Amino acid sequence: MKYTGRSFIVWLIVGIMVIFLFNGLSKKTAYKTAEISYSRLIKLIKNNQIQRVVISGQKIKGITKDGKRFNGIVPSTGSILKKLSNKDVQINLKPAGQDKWYYSLAITFVPFLLFMIFFIFMINKSSKGGGLGGNNVLMFGKSHARVIASDSNKVTFSDVAGVEEAKDDLKEIIEFLKDPSRFNKLGGKIPKGVLLIGAPGTGKTLLAKAVAGEAQVPFFIVSGSEFVEMFVGIGASRVRDLFAKAKKSAPCIIFIDEIDAVGRRRGTGIGGGHDEREQTLNQMLVEMDGFTENEGIIVMAATNRPDVLDPALLRPGRFDRRIAVELPDIKGRKEILNVHSKNIKISGNADLSIIAKSTPGFSGADLQNLINEAALHAASLNKESVKMEDLEFAKEKVMMGPERKSMVLSEDEKRLTAIHESGHTLIAKLLPNADPVYKVTIIPRGRAMGLTQQIPEFDRHSYSKEYLQSRLMVLLGGRAAEEVTGNSITTGAANDISQATKLATSMVAEWGMSKLGPIHYSEDEKNPFLGQELTRTKIISDKTAENIDSEISFIINDAYGEVIKLLNDNLHKLKQLTDNLSEKETLTASQIDEIVKK
Ligand code: ADP
Ligand code: ZN
Repeated sequence: MKYTGRSFIVWLIVGIMVIFLFNGLSKKTAYKTAEISYSRLIKLIKNNQIQRVVISGQKIKGITKDGKRFNGIVPSTGSILKKLSNKDVQINLKPAGQDKWYYSLAITFVPFLLFMIFFIFMINKSSKGGGLGGNNVLMFGKSHARVIASDSNKVTFSDVAGVEEAKDDLKEIIEFLKDPSRFNKLGGKIPKGVLLIGAPGTGKTLLAKAVAGEAQVPFFIVSGSEFVEMFVGIGASRVRDLFAKAKKSAPCIIFIDEIDAVGRRRGTGIGGGHDEREQTLNQMLVEMDGFTENEGIIVMAATNRPDVLDPALLRPGRFDRRIAVELPDIKGRKEILNVHSKNIKISGNADLSIIAKSTPGFSGADLQNLINEAALHAASLNKESVKMEDLEFAKEKVMMGPERKSMVLSEDEKRLTAIHESGHTLIAKLLPNADPVYKVTIIPRGRAMGLTQQIPEFDRHSYSKEYLQSRLMVLLGGRAAEEVTGNSITTGAANDISQATKLATSMVAEWGMSKLGPIHYSEDEKNPFLGQELTRTKIISDKTAENIDSEISFIINDAYGEVIKLLNDNLHKLKQLTDNLSEKETLTASQIDEIVKK
């Protein structure tokens, strides 16, 4: 049975009226009683005129022998009882405060009713503009998930551009959703949960929707923050409801946007004030464990902060497939611009590839916004089609826009970043002991302007001195490249320098890799009250500290000198790498090999 919001409130009002009616009725039928003063009461008692009384705390009522009803107030039950004793009166006692049944009923229920009204008011308010069925008052335990039916979902992979790797990873999921039973027969294992990791606007939602569109299955979409309500237990029951609905329409996709809102590590709240969120998260884990791999439900979730997620979410059988959705490179940006300008008249002189080139750090959403703004600008000037100047105008506008989260590099910064990263990469390629370079990119990511990724060939459990020296040189390669190319040195190397210093410090003070010999100089247990500096002076003399410092600076400067020499000997390769990187923005291992071998 379902009540709509309105009829429920009507019922409430009816209920309240019934109570008042009873109250009124009983008032009417009540006997006429006269209020009498205490002195009059004493007189009546003295004259033995009272037939019967009921005493309740300080209240007294009764009937006189000639049939008159009265009520009044007495100092206390005890005092009046004394006066009534050994008079011929029938006495009844009632506990103080106990009154007519409807009175106590009202006292119990009125606050409850008020609370209910408040509650309904809040729910109505919070569901305004919310999802499906938001107006149903009794729906607060139901999920607010929006459902996109399979036949109304027109999004496909062709609408998502520039994230080829992510698309490849998702193809298997589509195959599975198209025909789960086929996978059953083959005994194939499909992940239950896929976590899409990437900055806002990189197309995670779009990608999930496209998977549903490609597989032609229903798509349930809900935001993690919708589960975290103010009333404990509602989030959990929404999760239950969501999964129950999804099971009925399997095969299907459940997409949870901003999963970090519910999925944050448990037990980190100060004072344990996160009951609601933890209950919701627990319920989510229970639900994910509750269906088998081949039931036909795929839970996809998106986050920008995988590091804050509760480890339990990432365990096998939950979100054990992780897919990075990265900011698009120059080629990707061109494709995204093409996708969004499909239905827009772009004039002949407008070159989208120039726009793509000058927008490193733009997300898919930014690029869509750019096209949109350009079209609006052209329309406002009554132009027939979108011209290059409209695109340039829109680019500036989006760049300046307040919502941009990631960093956008200027042409100069881009060039300098390319030089810096090429330095890291080239040194890593030239040194036999260094870990192989996997990828180098100048697409900004978080606060980093570029990144050289190395992946070790095998898991290392201990490090040789040669390996550590190579590592140090690779770290210094970025700054050295800025220097040998005659550019002004920048703050971009701050993180490299700090890592290099830490490494050199450990080599001297912990691993005995300097002239000072195999002596352990650092303190293992840092005294939390005295702080590092104080405890250190206790163990190490000033003289030794000086020696340690000079060894550290010797190791670093020695390595830096070698790096400078190496880069000077290979200046042409450095230039080749820089040019290629500036143009393509990302170079893979094989592309790097080719450039360096030449
Ligand atoms: P996210 O979920 O990662 O924050 P969305 O999927 O909501 O990002 O992206 C917002 C909009 O930006 C999309 O609806 C789409 O129009 C556009 N967009 C983002 N990434 C892409 C892409 N890779 N290809 C095409 N359009 C994109
Ligand atoms: Zn660097």
